[in-house]
Amino acid sequence: MNSLRQWWSLPVDYGWNVAYARSQKALHVTRILIGIFCFFYAAAAVIALTIPGLGDSGPGQWALWSTIVTTPPLGLAWLIGGWPSWRMSIAFVLYADIVLAAVLLTIDEPSEMLPMAALFTVMGSYVVGFHGPKLFTAHHLFAFVTVAALYVSAMVGDSAQRLQTNLYLVMLILVMFSAPLICHSFLMLLRRDATGAFYDPLTGLQNRRGFDAAIGNLDLRSGIDTSVAAVVIDIDNFKAVNDRFGHEYGDTVIRLTASRILDVFPAPAVTVRLGGEEFAIVCLDGVESVIDRSEELRIRLCDATDRSPLTASIGVAHTVVEARDIVGDVDVLLGRADRAMYRAKRIGGNRVTVYQHEEPSVHPVDERQ
Ligand code: GH3
Ligand code: MG
Ligand code: MG
Repeated sequence: MNSLRQWWSLPVDYGWNVAYARSQKALHVTRILIGIFCFFYAAAAVIALTIPGLGDSGPGQWALWSTIVTTPPLGLAWLIGGWPSWRMSIAFVLYADIVLAAVLLTIDEPSEMLPMAALFTVMGSYVVGFHGPKLFTAHHLFAFVTVAALYVSAMVGDSAQRLQTNLYLVMLILVMFSAPLICHSFLMLLRRDATGAFYDPLTGLQNRRGFDAAIGNLDLRSGIDTSVAAVVIDIDNFKAVNDRFGHEYGDTVIRLTASRILDVFPAPAVTVRLGGEEFAIVCLDGVESVIDRSEELRIRLCDATDRSPLTASIGVAHTVVEARDIVGDVDVLLGRADRAMYRAKRIGGNRVTVYQHEEPSVHPVDERQ
């Protein structure tokens, strides 16, 4: 019971799955394949219409024609549009399940339609791939109810075929429920562990890997220029905090810094602990607002009531990007914010500086090269 509750409330969500698939470059291929599969549904409906007896009933014809008319535009949307939002993805699953159930239940041959219910497995594999336990359960319950209704009407309507109907039912249960259930449970466990690889255990902020995935998932509209700002924060003289108060207190200071960063730059800003006592933020806000908030953060970090009030050097860089190469642009932007941060440090720390055009690199690593 306990493990069932754990499974039901696993924190792995649609956004995470999509971000992960995108970071592995798998999303594009999957989107194209889903688009192509939509056209297969239209083709299947056209063939069904031509089979004598199958598309004869009024509602059956109506359901098949609905499939023929609606699936190609949907396929096109997958092929040329972006990856759908969570809501659109749920709507896609609902649409596909309802249309399939309508076709199966309205065509006047329940014993012939029963094995076709295996098509629920196609949408089931999409749900297993991208959604969590709740939609998985809803989809399979819906498929189960549809199959039960088909089975009952096949048993009642066609007594000569009862043995065959029972055979279809057993096969369907195996196809529809065994493989998806095994894959779903295994994938959920893998994902639960994989999410840990995207976060820094000390602060709960994203680490560099999680940050890269989140950047790829920023809400940018293709073809439209978007204002992006990066902020790099490095605590001044942090080694002295460790030396004076101990490493454990140093950890507390790092956690406190992370929570103050999140207070001033809440989501949808993307925040990361780059390492040690260095953090970064990327957000889609105007440069003035980001500079103001960086100044607010600098003041909040230096809280006089703390055991050891901190100062930090903060660098800000800003640019306008086109959605297509956001990850590459953010890398360049972070490098610029880092240079601005080092300038702040060089001139005494405890300040916010903004990247200036062609600012020379004064990063210690660069200087060594
Ligand atoms: P600067 O003003 O030039 O930034 O000096 P600094 O002392 O802040 O920077 P430096 O990079 O020389 O030292 C960073 C220190 O942070 C060194 C390392 O021991 C400490 N540190 C790195 N990661 C952790 C951590 O997870 N916990 C704690 N407590 N200390 C850490
Ligand atoms: Mg430092
Ligand atoms: Mg540092």
